[in-house]
Amino acid sequence: MRTATAQRKPHRASRDAAPTDTHAIVTHIARAIAAHKLPPGAKLGEEALGEIFGVSRTKIRQALFQLTSDKLVTLIPGRGAFVAQPTVREAREVFEARRMVETSVLTAFIERASTKDMATLKNHIAEQQRATDAGTAQTRNHLLGDFHTVIARLAGNDVMTAIVAELVARTSLITLLYQNTRGASESLTDHHTLMAAIEKRDVKLALQLMVAHLNDVENGLVLKEEAPVVADLKSALG
Ligand SMILES: [Zn+2]
Repeated sequence: MRTATAQRKPHRASRDAAPTDTHAIVTHIARAIAAHKLPPGAKLGEEALGEIFGVSRTKIRQALFQLTSDKLVTLIPGRGAFVAQPTVREAREVFEARRMVETSVLTAFIERASTKDMATLKNHIAEQQRATDAGTAQTRNHLLGDFHTVIARLAGNDVMTAIVAELVARTSLITLLYQNTRGASESLTDHHTLMAAIEKRDVKLALQLMVAHLNDVENGLVLKEEAPVVADLKSALG
């Protein structure tokens, strides 16, 4: 299992306890990044993390390597580990990948879902609605992203679930970095509409709605390349 979110449920009971095994530390840090508690560019000092979790630096290093392969953390030789700062290109690629992966996952879910699976997904949307109504932004944002991972988990493919969980976590980082102009309530409305198509097992409509939803989230971002620091050496130095 590569990313934290996918395995959130089994750990829920103990989520406030300080985790000590590598996987749990990865989960904990990934969740803090996805919840925007650790902003892009934040330094992740091995010593400080070792103290927080009460474990050796070896374990912290293992956790940071895992987070690096999940693209949530960047390791800079000689400087240490930092929360990743995805580029515009990376952001676009993440959304392109999401459209490809999530349409496949959604097709699989609609084909395989039992009545119970449908109910689980509907309950998840009800949870999103409650968090939105209660105005708890962090829980709401987490649940809005988690919805996509839950579809993959219910479709019953662990590999796809891990991929979607990673893409969702990377999306959280991207929306933090490239100011999201689209309201969370719009995403929730999309999820409700999508759920109606899923319940009717209308694959064609559900896929259209999923692609439109991901397009709208992407288009809500202000994806602008920053001007190169030194565009022209001559004019900069001359
Ligand atoms: Zn969504």
